Amino acid sequence: MKSDSKNLLDQSVQYLKSVGPKRAESFAKVGIKNIHDLIYYFPSRHLDRSTLLTAAKASDYLMNGYEGELTVIGKVFEKEKKRFGKKEILKVQFRDSTGFFECVWFRGTKYFYSVFNEGNTFAISSKPDKSKFGALKFIHPDFDRLSEEEEKSFLHTGKIIPFYRIPKELKSGNIGDLSLRRIINLAVENYVDLVEETLPEEIIKENNLIGLPEAIRNYHFPESSEKLNSAQSRFKFEELFYLELLVALRKQNYQTKLTGNKMSIKTNLVQNFLKTLPFELTKAQLKVLSEIKSDLLSEKPMNRLLQGDVGSGKTIVSLIAMLIAIDNGFQAAIMAPTEILADQHAKNISVMMKKLYLKYPDKEIKVSLLLGGQKKSEREKRLQDIELQEADITVGTHALFEEKVNYKNLGLVVIDEQHRFGVRQRARLQSKGKTPEVLVMSATPIPRTISMTVYGDLDISVIDEMPKNRIPIKTVLRGESRLPEIFKFIIDKSKDGYQTFIVYPLVEDSDKLELKAAETFYEELRKTHLKNLNVGLIHGRMSWQEKEEKMLLFLKKQFDVLISTTVIEVGIDIPDANIILINDAHRFGLSQLHQLRGRVGRSNKQAYCILVTKDEIVQYNIQQRLELDYLSSSMLDKYKSAIRLQTMVKTNNGFEIAETDLKLRGPGDIFSTKQSGFPDLKYADIIYDTELLNLTKKIAFNLINKDPSLDSENNSVIRNNLIKHYSENLKYAKIA
Ligand code: ADP
Ligand code: MG
Repeated sequence: MKSDSKNLLDQSVQYLKSVGPKRAESFAKVGIKNIHDLIYYFPSRHLDRSTLLTAAKASDYLMNGYEGELTVIGKVFEKEKKRFGKKEILKVQFRDSTGFFECVWFRGTKYFYSVFNEGNTFAISSKPDKSKFGALKFIHPDFDRLSEEEEKSFLHTGKIIPFYRIPKELKSGNIGDLSLRRIINLAVENYVDLVEETLPEEIIKENNLIGLPEAIRNYHFPESSEKLNSAQSRFKFEELFYLELLVALRKQNYQTKLTGNKMSIKTNLVQNFLKTLPFELTKAQLKVLSEIKSDLLSEKPMNRLLQGDVGSGKTIVSLIAMLIAIDNGFQAAIMAPTEILADQHAKNISVMMKKLYLKYPDKEIKVSLLLGGQKKSEREKRLQDIELQEADITVGTHALFEEKVNYKNLGLVVIDEQHRFGVRQRARLQSKGKTPEVLVMSATPIPRTISMTVYGDLDISVIDEMPKNRIPIKTVLRGESRLPEIFKFIIDKSKDGYQTFIVYPLVEDSDKLELKAAETFYEELRKTHLKNLNVGLIHGRMSWQEKEEKMLLFLKKQFDVLISTTVIEVGIDIPDANIILINDAHRFGLSQLHQLRGRVGRSNKQAYCILVTKDEIVQYNIQQRLELDYLSSSMLDKYKSAIRLQTMVKTNNGFEIAETDLKLRGPGDIFSTKQSGFPDLKYADIIYDTELLNLTKKIAFNLINKDPSLDSENNSVIRNNLIKHYSENLKYAKIA
């Protein structure tokens, strides 16, 4: 019986009444191949009684200054195309029992002309506009055609009508609002009861969810708005539940299938190292260190994310972890995102290890650097050091984990600035040692909701405190017109030994343009405002060796000012660089601005971050805004820019900045599923559905705790559904 029903749902849509092979082809183009797909093609919205108005009422609303979206139902009364030079405008007049309104199209007029036929009824949804004479008008509104019966049943019985997105592939296949609703209705009526439940009975009951067939039916053709809500909630629940199940499985897999190296504190190595530091570790560093230590000393392999703002002292913490591994006879590796950073890590670590050896000459710790661009002979030597364990600590980029690199005894891997590495890379490098302990470090604060999922399989440690000697960076926002004053400030400060980064954004996605822009500014400033200072230039077209050379000159104070494109974004430590001037600051994202600001303020002097932008953005008053939805796109850009920049001025706290960033950008950018190996979210919103996310996480983790390989009878539903619909995502979380 079961296999029969599955077969029926797997049938091509072409066997549905009024579909046929031609329309089936169009459906296939948008990914709807079988009946199951069609049943899961949910409406993008429903005809909503709460915002439905008559033409007369809508005019009243308009007169009273209403700016929200509303819906009116009307019959096409007449239409006309008007030509203005090359441009053509389409005007369609509609009427309902109370009056008239007009819809206007400036683009696609030919197509829209063919859509609106006299006597046909449409639901029009949009923000209203006024015509020259103050009459009700809509410009490029959303519209859906209604059949006469639909209109009647909607008006008289309050029946909720679904509106579907109709991509051009369907339109050109002669599938419109009415026909699509009819076809989907047919499919739902006849086949929905064959759809197999995807959640266990118990979970459905305990969480007051509605069953799958009922949810599907009500998502399409709701009996009531309450039912529609229940249907949508059920899909959100299911989606987040399976997401968290995958997270739980991944974590489970890591902890039970793999055994780590049970380390211990063997000698005084770590103690001695701490004595060579010119500072005390902060409380936060000590706390995360004890978390890391307990991972290392236990049997289960460490798989930990270490978060901390730029400059909070993550590198020292990771170095101590590496020393524990070395104390136990292992090698350690640290991977940086760029060659210049790897190089800098290698130098810093070498210096510290030399100092340690001079003071406590019982064990010399050898540091080796492995990069892509090295000479062959040099590279061979490094590879050999790694194979023979001549190198205790290897620093590098991705090159560290290429196939040719054979570690003799790799015990710990540290990944710096991990947001650039995906789960695939993590999996690959973990295949390098027996099961090396893994510590991932990120300076990009990740909001909790995101880290719970994308990094939910990692344990998380947070350094939430800066070293005491730091004075908070002063951040100011200035209009371009004040640049001359700013340059004067830079010159004044240089007399006190301050150095300055001047950053320009990338002009476009083109290296050539970037180079040109940076060079132009460089030449100009050297001749004008900054002619009495030593000015250097660094940009993305330079090789890492060239960049490094420039950074070294800057470090040695050969330059007072370093002009750069965003290449200084990550991790470079110049203690006397205490001013950063960011031009066209509105072009940068929030987390990028925060990273850039982190380049300064690494000493005990007052540091400054000067954000320069268009004067109008500086003057923009956020309080005066309307609802976000009603801003035109250029207003919205300006509004968002203003918020970003004012957030920077207001706070130095990376987590606060990340939360704002998430709200402004939406989850898409940050919640990059391609990298994480988790499925895309269709129903739930990771920003707004946090409560549900917490709930499903709890349920999923409990369930996997009790039944790790999902072989209890109760969980067979889950098991089958995972295999059927999430096989792609199971790669990193195999169930037995
Ligand atoms: P992160 O990697 O988190 O950006 P780093 O580890 O590079 O930060 O540390 C930034 C600077 O602060 C380094 O020069 C480091 O030596 C110094 N530092 C680290 N911990 C402390 C501390 N507890 N007190 C004072 N300075 C510290
Ligand atoms: Mg760092």
